[in-house]
Amino acid sequence: MKALDELTFDNRFARLGDAFSTHVLPEPISEPRLVVASPAAMALLDLDPAVAESPLFAELFGGHKLWAEAEPRAMVYSGHQFGSYNPQLGDGRGLLLGEVYNQAGEHWDLHLKGAGQTPYSRMGDGRAVLRSSIREFLASEALHALGIPTTRALCVIGSDTPVWREKQERAAMVLRLAPSHIRFGHFEYFYYTKRPEQQKALGEHVLAMHFPECREQPEPYLAMFREIVERNAELIAKWQAYGFCHGVMNTDNMSTLGITFDFGPFAFLDDFDANFICNHSDDRGRYSFSNQVPIGQWNLSALAQALTPFISVEALRETLGLYLPLFQVHYLDLMRRRLGLTTGEDNDQALVEQLLQLMQGSGVDYNLFFRHLGEHSAESAVARLRDDFVDIKGFDAWAERYCARVSRDGNDDQSERRQRMHAVNPLYILRNYLAQEAIDAAEAGDYSVVRRLHELLSDPFNEQPGMAHFAERPPEWGKHLEISCSS
Ligand code: AMP
Ligand code: MG
Repeated sequence: MKALDELTFDNRFARLGDAFSTHVLPEPISEPRLVVASPAAMALLDLDPAVAESPLFAELFGGHKLWAEAEPRAMVYSGHQFGSYNPQLGDGRGLLLGEVYNQAGEHWDLHLKGAGQTPYSRMGDGRAVLRSSIREFLASEALHALGIPTTRALCVIGSDTPVWREKQERAAMVLRLAPSHIRFGHFEYFYYTKRPEQQKALGEHVLAMHFPECREQPEPYLAMFREIVERNAELIAKWQAYGFCHGVMNTDNMSTLGITFDFGPFAFLDDFDANFICNHSDDRGRYSFSNQVPIGQWNLSALAQALTPFISVEALRETLGLYLPLFQVHYLDLMRRRLGLTTGEDNDQALVEQLLQLMQGSGVDYNLFFRHLGEHSAESAVARLRDDFVDIKGFDAWAERYCARVSRDGNDDQSERRQRMHAVNPLYILRNYLAQEAIDAAEAGDYSVVRRLHELLSDPFNEQPGMAHFAERPPEWGKHLEISCSS
């Protein structure tokens, strides 16, 4: 375990120079105080969880103090936002404080979000509000616990600093951890500004830091692109299987590591709805739940375009072609597991699609359906669930096919089935209304609700005593929360 001042820095990205990022100091927030910290994320830096309570912790992550070896930088990038190219983006309210190596030799970027204005702030104030910081914190730690690759969150620091959104709110900072903060938009920036040397330097940096095995391949850039395609196919398969809507899949919010990145108006589905749009400024539903799959491919083709100086168009096309089939394989594998199946049959895809069609418009809670399906034998579970469906006849037909499929699968020991299914079907997920309850309490100065929710979501598959409220279906008001994207 390390004390706060014992972190080991090696700021490789900062050393790429001023064409890649700009030195900016964090602008402190007033009266910084710990809202919530993640002991699991602290362990990634070998930090003793107890140090979260120290005044130094809030001072460091509230922008008041810096390690001598930190080199805070605002990164420059661009990207496609809602399908249109925006040539000038960058860290407008976040800073890469530095890069830390832990005792296991793992590398973690420390990124402080809400750290004040930078050359890339455009009209923005450089701040993040408490509400959105809590949402990012909870989502990153919850996704991680579900086994979905994501940036991590170390802590949220609250303050008295006022910020204006639709109303007056308070500024907060969230300390984000990731092995890299390099986005698709980083490659796009150097491609569209026609700076091949810098683009090469970026490419070499990413290869060396994050894809060392690709350097051994005859075409390292192609191998890296293939790896990025594979990781994104798997990531988006996980989002779809667990009902996660990202909300703003712009290419500046897509990580080259294939991890969930930059949380805005995200949501986990309550009732299943393939057309669900969680971002209410997305009026055309470009980033609706089901569109995340083709948008994943669209974003990868935007990256491919930016990689044309390194890789032939033919090879890029062929590699892009792997995305959908790979997505299908991962998605089907996850859905089979959610249905309790241990083997594969040709018609499984249809079994999943028919179930989702029946759920659509029936008001069936997506996550609880799978949890309840594992609670009992297949026959008795479907008998209990059928009343939730509008098309009962349709459901009965599906249930009959499902039960026959389960019996062909051949694992009919009920306690084993329950254990296997509960290990992949969470009891607790980060519903919007649960996040909202935690935010309301935190805005009133009570941090116990967000801390409890974070603890619960760190162990989402196991029933925890006294937490039944969190495993219920959401109240009607909770299903229709409008999540503001001003954050
Ligand atoms: P996002 O939608 O959070 O991914 O942000 C898109 C771009 O706008 C990024 O370049 C952000 O840094 C920038 N941005 C968002 N909010 C602010 C803010 N309050 N102040 C300055 N820049 C911001
Ligand atoms: Mg962003």
